[in-house]
Amino acid sequence: MPLSIHAFIRSVWRSRLKVMFFIGILLGFLLTTPTVNAINQNSTPNAGVYQFSVGDFKVATISDGLLKLPPLPTYAPLADPQEVEQAMVERFWSPDTLSLYFNALYVDTGTHHVLIDTGAGTELGTGLAKLAQNLAAIGIQSQDIDTVIITHAHPDHIGGIVATNGQLTFPNARYYISEAEWQFWMAPTVDLSSLLVPDPFKQGILASARKHLGAIASQVNLFQPDQEIIPGIVAIAAPGHTPGQSALKIESGGSQLIVAADVFFNEAFDLEHPDWQTGFDLNPQQAAETRRRLLNQVADERIMVMAYHMPFPALGHIRSQNAAPDTTNHIRYEWEPILWQFES
Ligand SMILES: [Zn+2]
Repeated sequence: MPLSIHAFIRSVWRSRLKVMFFIGILLGFLLTTPTVNAINQNSTPNAGVYQFSVGDFKVATISDGLLKLPPLPTYAPLADPQEVEQAMVERFWSPDTLSLYFNALYVDTGTHHVLIDTGAGTELGTGLAKLAQNLAAIGIQSQDIDTVIITHAHPDHIGGIVATNGQLTFPNARYYISEAEWQFWMAPTVDLSSLLVPDPFKQGILASARKHLGAIASQVNLFQPDQEIIPGIVAIAAPGHTPGQSALKIESGGSQLIVAADVFFNEAFDLEHPDWQTGFDLNPQQAAETRRRLLNQVADERIMVMAYHMPFPALGHIRSQNAAPDTTNHIRYEWEPILWQFES
């Protein structure tokens, strides 16, 4: 006659085997229960690529990584430190850490495989140089890129041109940069005295520009403001941060995207306080004028914006506040990030 479960446990409890019995139960439990550590070891990081469309163009934000650095003095050198701290705390950011995202843009126009800016490469330390691996995640290899458009020649945008082996990372590409930008960095003397950053850093910026631009001298095309660089991508003059910085308008099938480059960096500083300059703006007054002009345009025309240093995937719209004509100098702007889509 079969024993009931209660009778079985009772009989074991009375027997000399009870210790062995409960050790067996405990071992079975430990061996069959997955631990939290095992789950974490098998997980993957969050995505570094975000695919979407602009009309018929297939487009993707490609992260090159994230740099965390103190906001002062570099990113608001002339602002009241208490106001800077307040602006960061209001956004639930740590007041001593500014997160600077690095985002390139990949555009498949159907004819061209385009990369807009190349990431920092190894110019700016660890945590970066993730562009190639994130491109590969959507099936694009470096040799597939046939067009590289450079918004401006700061190391965080051109540092990926020359690889660590000294070869071009994108060997099959034509390179496009504004003539004003090329002439500035390749002139016999380059005056960076107005940058509010330490001298060694200025020297590093110049050396980086010479190295990476010099490497593409035989395969570069220089463009002018308002010129269509390739079909569907038009240059917009955006001087101030650098003399020849270019924003871009991407247009296909009635849809538009403005690539803002470094016209603004983050919402707490440049959008809420568009006159706080960064230490990297070569001509701060001109940079502030460019910032207001472009922000007013995309706010008025409700055009989607991609901005290199905004939080990944760096896509959103701009709203302006207090836009009455007589208070132009007091307009502040808000960043409205796009809603994440799972299908591109
Ligand atoms: Zn930048």
